[in-house]
Amino acid sequence: MQDSLKRFVRYVRINTQSDDTTGVTPSTECQKNLGRLLVEELLSLGLEDAHMDEWGNVYAHLEGTLGLKIGLNAHMDTALEVSGENVKPCLVREYKGGPIKLANGLEMNPKTFPSLLKHVGHDLIVTDGNTLLGGDDKAGIAIIMQALEFYHEHPEVEHHTICVAFTVDEEIGEGTKHFNYEEMGADFAYTIDGADIDRIECENFNAKSVTIKINGVSVHPGEGKGKLINAGKVASELVASLPGDETPFDSEYDQGFWHLTEMSGSPDNAVIHIIVRDFEIEGIERRIEYIQSAANLVKEKYPQIEVEVEVKHQYENMKQYVLRKPEVIEHAKSALRNNGIEPVMGLIRGGTDGATMSKFGLVTPNLGNASFNHHGRFEYLDVQDYEKMIDVVVDILRI
Ligand SMILES: [Zn+2]
Repeated sequence: MQDSLKRFVRYVRINTQSDDTTGVTPSTECQKNLGRLLVEELLSLGLEDAHMDEWGNVYAHLEGTLGLKIGLNAHMDTALEVSGENVKPCLVREYKGGPIKLANGLEMNPKTFPSLLKHVGHDLIVTDGNTLLGGDDKAGIAIIMQALEFYHEHPEVEHHTICVAFTVDEEIGEGTKHFNYEEMGADFAYTIDGADIDRIECENFNAKSVTIKINGVSVHPGEGKGKLINAGKVASELVASLPGDETPFDSEYDQGFWHLTEMSGSPDNAVIHIIVRDFEIEGIERRIEYIQSAANLVKEKYPQIEVEVEVKHQYENMKQYVLRKPEVIEHAKSALRNNGIEPVMGLIRGGTDGATMSKFGLVTPNLGNASFNHHGRFEYLDVQDYEKMIDVVVDILRI
């Protein structure tokens, strides 16, 4: 196995699953195990200031001569959906296009995952079916580390100043909670946290959440005639009145949605939790408005109940911020084209740490890390794309 793959395998074998219930940073101590290893390896690659801060974030710099300060970011934690403990990566040589057998009779089939067919002829790394792989985002980390190794082995090759940050808790939406922009010290940056390596992603959803609390009128049901207004039933009426064809099930590409994430209720009280996503500000406002008016309607229908609507801002589309520095996109495009890849501008149907970084002045679009089917047992890495992305990042640092 080549050294670059050994590095990837070394990282995915360390469990770094985050946890959204602990309320501390990092949300799990195990993320620091990878952080400590990365600091050691960064020091041995000549990044003399490599260190981990009290929150578990790792920072390191390599002084360059070409004038720019370019940031590279990847996150150390893995998703909550599937365990990241005891990951056993398996190599599939020259994928032929059929189903891939994992352990426990599980099978990864191009009928279910048609995008597998884009990788025919390439080597893949898959899981044994019991865990996720953790390519999200350890492939990003390994790509950055391999690029640093290139410069360590080729001191004669000039490069820009390289500013590296590996962050914790991205998967629970807290990757930038304690991010230190001064410590990072970059003019602009890239997260290496996407999938397809030809993508440059500088647009993501605008995101808000809505919590609706309903207090009903609860009396003995035997004496409920004309009095009992069941909060749980009102909640289901409210949800049923929202546009049935604007959910995640109905939307793709640049379409937004509303999504019921939680609903509970009794005759006395009920709670509805909805997240709302849209690439356009007007779109997200329109969706918030229809939820608001649905709440007003049930209140009008049942004047005796209490209905409280709370809207929370979650994150913003980074497009408006990235467009202020179009040269950051051009820079990535040149590096891709240098490696024979025609860049494609992609949309992120979710959020990214780069969106928050961009909002706070560090323009940070997202690039691919050659891993796919994130957050599940069917996650895999395309080995040849991974190798290619290392060359792309090497070029980003010297163009
Ligand atoms: Zn990720």
